[in-house]
Amino acid sequence: MTDKNKQLYAYTRTYGCRANVADGERIDGILAEMGYGFVNSPDGADLILLNTCAVRESAETRVFGNIGALVHRKRLNPDLIVAVCGCMVQRKHTAEKLCGTFPFIDLVFGTHAIHKLPELLSEVISEKRRVTDITAYADEIVEGLPIRRGSALKADVPVMYGCDNFCSYCVVPYVRGRERSRKPDDVLTEVGGLVKSGVKEITLLGQNVNSYGKEHGVTFAELLREIDKTEGEFRVAYMTSHPKDFSRELTDVIAKSGKISRQLHLPAQSGSDRVLALMNRGYTSGQYGEIIERAREKIPGLSVTTDIIVGFPGETREDFEQTLAFIRKIGFDSAYTFIYSKREGTKAAELPDRITAEEKSVRFNELLRVLEDTCGRAYGRFVGSTLRVLCEGKGRTGKRAYTGKSAQGVIVDFDSDRNATGEFVNVKIDAALKWAVLGSVQK
Ligand code: SAH
Ligand code: SF4
Repeated sequence: MTDKNKQLYAYTRTYGCRANVADGERIDGILAEMGYGFVNSPDGADLILLNTCAVRESAETRVFGNIGALVHRKRLNPDLIVAVCGCMVQRKHTAEKLCGTFPFIDLVFGTHAIHKLPELLSEVISEKRRVTDITAYADEIVEGLPIRRGSALKADVPVMYGCDNFCSYCVVPYVRGRERSRKPDDVLTEVGGLVKSGVKEITLLGQNVNSYGKEHGVTFAELLREIDKTEGEFRVAYMTSHPKDFSRELTDVIAKSGKISRQLHLPAQSGSDRVLALMNRGYTSGQYGEIIERAREKIPGLSVTTDIIVGFPGETREDFEQTLAFIRKIGFDSAYTFIYSKREGTKAAELPDRITAEEKSVRFNELLRVLEDTCGRAYGRFVGSTLRVLCEGKGRTGKRAYTGKSAQGVIVDFDSDRNATGEFVNVKIDAALKWAVLGSVQK
């Protein structure tokens, strides 16, 4: 970094959830504003930045492996800057382990220090030493950071940060701090600007969007209602919802709206009330079922997706079977499935865990089979109907020319006389696969 006129290149990589991806877009925005260009591989990079995830052990192991692979690059190019940020370094003992294992790491900064990146980087360059900034809590939300978005068609808009729920297995409240909501006006201005610039699908992000707005005296349903009034044809999705805070008001707003997604991603985690209580989730499987029943009644065609954890400490065979029965009863459109991963510092890490790894993987495979059976049937309900589809480009199944997503978040592969990428089209559905539906544009 001695030649001031040299074009510098950054290779940035983000692991984990959509909130982390949104952070990554801000990190890239800041770097672009600093004059960095971008490369798609570490080759030729002057800065390598890894934005990490801590939600499961496997995510952390991958990062350790990927940083280890950088040793030889640093040896060949001592001017190379290696930066690590995100949720992993927000955990003190992990940050210490990382820095101890890899003395060549130049910059470590936590999830609350993204806006300070320019000053942190210049400190690394001028002082030629490792710089660390890991504050435990964020004072306030920093608005107005530059964003380098990954797509011109779709955009993620965080509406809140942090989480106060402390589900007993989860590390997020420890690494992302307390719940903080953006002001409704800031969200509305960003959404308005995105729609004007041609974005067609906006996803509002938060760990628990249903508790949005407490400090501003606004509910998430009210925010959605306002967003729905924004001029233009676009779609607004949101994730993640928490069953304990999912209000009737929200269902009613979605039912009346023309722009709000017909997909409800509502993580259930388990179908056993005993396990749900141990998880500190704040609802029973019956209450979950009631939310879905009402939502389906009010919002025809609604797609319901979920997250399930298998092998939570002390999960008995009976608990697990209750989860399978629950899945059959609800009939999800799809589900993300996870084997429980012990996270030090969480409440669940202190619970006795006598389920063997073998038993966990037996249950996991059983769960996948039940989901394949139940989810596979769910899409049949769309055959014969017409779905409004945002065309995203060439088809994925090889069976039809184009692909897109419906308001239910369902992948739709379809035939069309013309390339309608970036536009909404009406597609008549004639067949259902397990993970997509097929059709033709209605003329
Ligand atoms: N705030 C969101 C998402 C949190 S992380 C929510 O509450 O739904 C995404 C998913 O990862 C969770 O829903 C959960 O299913 C899974 N997860 C979180 N911690 C985990 C752990 N320790 N082991 C296995 N899965 C976990
Ligand atoms: Fe984790 Fe629960 Fe918060 Fe989701 S709601 S981020 S699972 S603590």
